[in-house]
Order: sequence, then C-alpha cells, then structure tokens
Amino acid sequence: ELIDLTALFTQVLTRFDMLLDSEEYRFKNYKIERNIINEAIFVDVDSDKIVQVLDNVMNNAIKYSPEGGKITCTMTLENNQVLITVKDEGIGIPAEDLAHIFDRFYRVDRARSRAMGGTGLGLAISREVIEQHDGEIWAESINRDGTTFYIALPYIPYEEEEWGWD
Ligand code: ATP
Ligand code: MG
Repeated sequence: ELIDLTALFTQVLTRFDMLLDSEEYRFKNYKIERNIINEAIFVDVDSDKIVQVLDNVMNNAIKYSPEGGKITCTMTLENNQVLITVKDEGIGIPAEDLAHIFDRFYRVDRARSRAMGGTGLGLAISREVIEQHDGEIWAESINRDGTTFYIALPYIPYEEEEWGWD
C-alpha cells in the first residue's frame, strides 16, 4: 500500500497534540516540536503497523519526560532513506540498557516501569514491524539528558515514466 509518510506522521503528531491538550495532560506542559519535510513521501508500508510504532515511541517519550518536557520530532530524507527521529528531555537510558530495550519484556528499571504501566513489549513489536519493512530502529541516550529514537525506512523515489518520441 503506497502511503504518504509525511501525512501519516503529521496525523499522528496532531493526535498527540490533542492528547497533550486534554485535561489529563494539560497541567504537565509537555510540548511537541515538529520539523517535518515539506513534501509528500510515498512509501509502500502497512500504515496501521507504522502508526503502532510511532504511537509507541511517542508514548514512551511522554511517559519518561518530566513536566514541561519538550519532544522534538523530525522527518527528513537522507540518501535513499526516510529518517524519523523522536527526541525527549526525559530520564534517559543507561548505556548498558540501550542494547536491550528492544528485547521482549525488557524494562530499564522494573519498579519504575511497573509504576508507569505497560508491558515492555512496545519496542520489541516496533523493531519487528520496522524490520518487516527492511528498515532500522535504534536509540541513543546521553546519561540523564534524554533519549532519541531513530526510525529509518528505505525510500526509492518513484520516477515518472518519460514519454517522448525519438
Ligand atoms: P509498553 O510499550 O508495552 O506499554 P513499555 O513502554 O515499558 O511498555 P517499551 O516501549 O518496549 O515498553 O520500552 C521498553 C523500556 O525501554 C521501557 O520500559 C523503558 O524502561 C525504556 N524506554 C523506552 N523509551 C524510553 C524513553 N523515551 N526514555 C526513557 N526510557 C525509555
Ligand atoms: Mg512503550
């Protein structure tokens, strides 16, 4: 299914803007900053599954952010890839845990994570989905200075047939 990833990500972020503006979240003053490429990017993906991945990464960013935290979301084209990044100002992920957060049921701090709810499956499912699409998902985190998630999906620009006479 050919999906416009720019429109898809924009819709997801608009839904999160509405969530953060709801009574449940408004007092926390989270902000989403967007820096999204200004053109349609058509990619052959399962849109429901990609939305599930984006939802999980966004939910994590919110879940582990302090009040007033900013979540910066970007989408760019690099070579033959669409690169999506979601950066938060939250508690971060210790280096020794970074390699494991995509494992099933892995959670950095069990007590802390239990209090946050969820199952610890979100990123395992996300990695499965992104790999099904021949893409990559990874994270970087610097001590307690927040976390950035990267999602790269292959992008082959659709070349229009050239019609002419020779
Ligand atoms: P679920 O997604 O099933 O509701 P979850 O969010 O705990 O549960 P994952 O999304 O798989 O599970 O994330 C795994 C673990 O990675 C989390 O429990 C948390 O410890 C850590 N983690 C994920 N995203 C972040 C983030 N943005 N900042 C800090 N820690 C994170
Ligand atoms: Mg999650």
